Amino acid sequence: MSASPQEHKIITRRFSAQLAVSEYIARFRRADYFLSLCRECTNFGSRYGCPPFDYDVLERMQRYTTATIIGVQIMPEEKKLPLQMAQELMAPVIRELTQELLTEEKRTGGLSFGFAGGCSLCGDKPCARITGEPCRHPDRVRSSLESYGFDLAKTSEELFNTPILWSRNGYIPDYLMLICGIFS
Ligand code: SF4
Repeated sequence: MSASPQEHKIITRRFSAQLAVSEYIARFRRADYFLSLCRECTNFGSRYGCPPFDYDVLERMQRYTTATIIGVQIMPEEKKLPLQMAQELMAPVIRELTQELLTEEKRTGGLSFGFAGGCSLCGDKPCARITGEPCRHPDRVRSSLESYGFDLAKTSEELFNTPILWSRNGYIPDYLMLICGIFS
C-alpha cells in the first residue's frame, strides 16, 4: 500500500499470515475474556456485528479450514497527532480493506471479518438492531475478529512480529495497527 492522498500523509505496511482455522482458534482465541470486555461496551447488543450473536460462533468458524489474517501498520508522517485523529487516518485503509475482503468473500464463499468499533454505516440513525428490525446493510456489515473472541495483540505480536502500540498522553503512537482477515 502507498501513502494516503488525504491531508495527513500516512505510510502503510501490510502483513499477512495464513494458518489453519483450528490453529488460529487454539492459539489466539480467549472467548470468555473478550466477551466480558464486549459486555462493557455500549455497542454490546445494540449493533449488528457486535455480540451477543444469535448463532454459534465456534460452529460457524469451524465450517472453514484456512484463516488468512491481514495486518496493516499505519504510520503518520507527522508526529504528535491527537488521538482523536486516529479514525480519520484509518478510514481510507478500512474502506480499501473492507472492499477487498468483501470481494474475496464473494469470490470464495468465505467468511470475512471487519474492524472493532460500532458500525457507523447508518450515520446518525440508530442501529436497526435496537428496534428489532433487520440490518439495513447486511451485505457490508461484518463482525471483527475481537468480537469472535480473538486476541489481536497476541495476533499482531506472534504473526506479524509487530506489537500493537497504545496511545500515551492523548497522542497517536508511532503507528496504528489494523487487523482483519478472512476464513476460507
Ligand atoms: S448497517 Fe445500520 S442497521 Fe446494520 S449494523 Fe450498521 S448501524 Fe446497524
